[in-house]
Amino acid sequence: KPRQQPLHILFFPFFAAGHLIPVADMAALFAARGARCTILTTPVNADTIRPAVDRANLHGNNSTSAVEISLMPFPDVGLPPGIENVSALATLQVDYSANFMQAVQLFREPFDQFLADNHNHPVDAVVSDSFFTWSADAAAEHGVPRLVFFGSSVFARSCNESLLRNSPLETSTASPEDNDGGRLVSLPGLPHRVELRQSQMMDPGNYLWKFFQSNNAADQRSFGEVFNSFQELEPDYVEHFRATLGRRAWLVGPVALGTMDTAASGTKGNALPPGDGCLRWLDRKPAGSVVYVSFGTISSFSPAELREIARSLDISGRNFVWVIGGAAGTVDDWSEWMPEGFAELTADVDDSRGFIIRGWAPQRLILNHPALGGFMTHCGWNSILEAVSAGVPMVTWPRYADQFFNEKLVVEVLKVGVSIGAKDYGLSLEDHEVIAGELIARSITRLMGDSQEGDAVRKKANELGVKARSAVEKGGSSYGDVGRLMDELMARRRCSVKLGEE
Ligand code: UDP
Repeated sequence: KPRQQPLHILFFPFFAAGHLIPVADMAALFAARGARCTILTTPVNADTIRPAVDRANLHGNNSTSAVEISLMPFPDVGLPPGIENVSALATLQVDYSANFMQAVQLFREPFDQFLADNHNHPVDAVVSDSFFTWSADAAAEHGVPRLVFFGSSVFARSCNESLLRNSPLETSTASPEDNDGGRLVSLPGLPHRVELRQSQMMDPGNYLWKFFQSNNAADQRSFGEVFNSFQELEPDYVEHFRATLGRRAWLVGPVALGTMDTAASGTKGNALPPGDGCLRWLDRKPAGSVVYVSFGTISSFSPAELREIARSLDISGRNFVWVIGGAAGTVDDWSEWMPEGFAELTADVDDSRGFIIRGWAPQRLILNHPALGGFMTHCGWNSILEAVSAGVPMVTWPRYADQFFNEKLVVEVLKVGVSIGAKDYGLSLEDHEVIAGELIARSITRLMGDSQEGDAVRKKANELGVKARSAVEKGGSSYGDVGRLMDELMARRRCSVKLGEE
């Protein structure tokens, strides 16, 4: 009897930690509001989200609504065994991205299978990643509405859309003080003036541009989009996306906060238990004194760059936690880059000035720790939203793609960050300019030191944190969007049942 059953939502996240984690949290959020949620993924990727899923089911009090993981094998496309996501891909010496993208196409079969098979509780809606271009048509063939998960801000989404609509864009020479011959591109039609340095993504002949273009076309044929963001964070862009671009959007984030008791200051929403004694080390540091340095799960740095980061942390004189994990930690021989005296700064003792985490950091717990004063980030959207939720201001160091858009939002629109001044060189490290430790340290000081600028940025970050937490509470904007979306999907089900009966 489909009318009595709760909504069944199928989640199909792209294979990268930055997509899997928020989608698992989103599934937990919808389950907490009464839906049955299935996440379709491969075995290695399931390991990344299993703790979040187990926790959601433990805390859920409704036996009919829960989060399940449905496993499918990763197809054999010539990748080394166990390589099932882009974070692992980024640690390999050989470029296997073409094989990986071939695999992405092959997932249509298990996806179709799931939609076709599950007749005892049909799927009411699919939330699939924008990167799975084909999933728009697959869902349509099964008569299931598809909600797009883009994995970034509405701001980045709008910038991307402007690029795709208006390319090739007119360029102007960068200001004289840049004197690197770079060209600037102004993105037309946005609520603010957004100027970016020219990059591969802006060239209609480039494969990235074409990839985004075909995804965007498929996304426009879909039912709408769900964003891990909240209305109060980027209201002008939500309005732009809905009213000017005519797209449907539900903002349901920050999803990491949605499933956790905010009074417990972040302990319940974490993906993994605290590791490495880092939190105990933080307990001994004064409030607001520590800068947390982490660049997500895909970005990597050359030995020369790692050396300058280490130097900057030394020069800045601040307490720091530095995560050298995932792709960033592939430079195995630390003697290749570690400056003299740096090891002493980070010796694993209680009174050391720095703490290095090699591997996976309990990022949300760290960001919510009272000792935290700033976050040096690559501007991955999840990292930004986690910092915003914790009220922590940022030093921004984007590496590629939407990270440069997100930096603009953080620094120029929200004014909760200080930019390091990085330029877009794409994924390859070969042509990367090495930013001097002195310059990096200057940004840390601007953010964390006693100054009008530092005070203003910290105050703003704190205010945004309060808004983020209210958004997910009962009566908040994100709480409301979740309810509205579920109501609409339920109404749609009733309507199709009626039509079927006639
Ligand atoms: N993350 C973590 N510990 C780590 C590295 C990453 O918990 O050591 C989490 C981080 O909190 C965020 C996600 O992994 O939720 C990374 O996503 P983001 O969008 O920031 O960056 P990406 O890895 O996609 O570039």
